[in-house]
Amino acid sequence: MKNDIHPDYFQTTVKCACGNVVEVGSTKKDIRVEICSKCHPFFTGKQKLVDTAGRIERFRRKYAKFQK
Ligand SMILES: [Zn+2]
Repeated sequence: MKNDIHPDYFQTTVKCACGNVVEVGSTKKDIRVEICSKCHPFFTGKQKLVDTAGRIERFRRKYAKFQK
């Protein structure tokens, strides 16, 4: 490898919002993610809604009036 043309490569940790920490090699330090293989519904088998920008809440409010 030539010097000074490659980015620094660290052994760093990726921290997930669920508390899971994974060690990886990366050019970035202290990576944070919101979902990982430990807490993703596909792997856990549990239903977990990721409400992006309140879309689910808006949908519920919109259709609440039909249930009265
Ligand atoms: Zn996670």
